[in-house]
Amino acid sequence: MNPGKTIPEWESKLWSYVSAGDGQHCPLYQTCDARTSGTWCPDDNKHLLRRLVNDDNFQVEKFNNVITPNCGVNGVIGQMLVKLSDRFLAKHSAGHPPVPTELALLADEPNNIEIRPISLKRYGGALWRLEDGWIIYLNSNDSIPRQRFTLFHEVFHILAHRATPNPVFKRMGVDQGSFNELVADGFAMLVLASEKWVKEAWQESQDVDKIAEMLIAPKALIWFRLKYLQLV
Ligand SMILES: [Zn+2]
Repeated sequence: MNPGKTIPEWESKLWSYVSAGDGQHCPLYQTCDARTSGTWCPDDNKHLLRRLVNDDNFQVEKFNNVITPNCGVNGVIGQMLVKLSDRFLAKHSAGHPPVPTELALLADEPNNIEIRPISLKRYGGALWRLEDGWIIYLNSNDSIPRQRFTLFHEVFHILAHRATPNPVFKRMGVDQGSFNELVADGFAMLVLASEKWVKEAWQESQDVDKIAEMLIAPKALIWFRLKYLQLV
């Protein structure tokens, strides 16, 4: 396969950002006008954001200082991520929430993807590459909403991997670089909680718990999504 021939320009651009450097920092970090003029920077707050999306006992008060970024991550990179997630969600032909878990199986057609829940000590999930496909391990100790979030996070790594010529990793649980983890989290958020679904749900009930239940997504993630869409 030669994905370079078939993928659109915006997508190549996204993968070039994702594979820039060691993946630890935002590729726009050094030159970002927003950051240097004092705007809240997601790259400087990666650990806080990770804590947020991993928080199963979510309380708004703990994250009051998280704000919607007005920078390249939300702008240039964010727009490409939205395109990527929209294209992926188009495979869900029924088009209504919640996104089915089985959608993940279509991330690398025609290759096979197996989802294997197992008890993991350190990770929420891990990815294993086979000759002709993938195994996504999900931590069976996690809640179902959290496993779904991890699942689509791993899907992002699969999409990234199939678009880049060099294997990003071979082993289980290898860190892809903390900035790439942030982007993978962003993709998972966009898949589980697309703008359309979240806005519709918000119109119906302005209740984070209800929306999280409907989309089968972690509550913290839904809150952050609402924040991102400037609905809360
Ligand atoms: Zn990851």
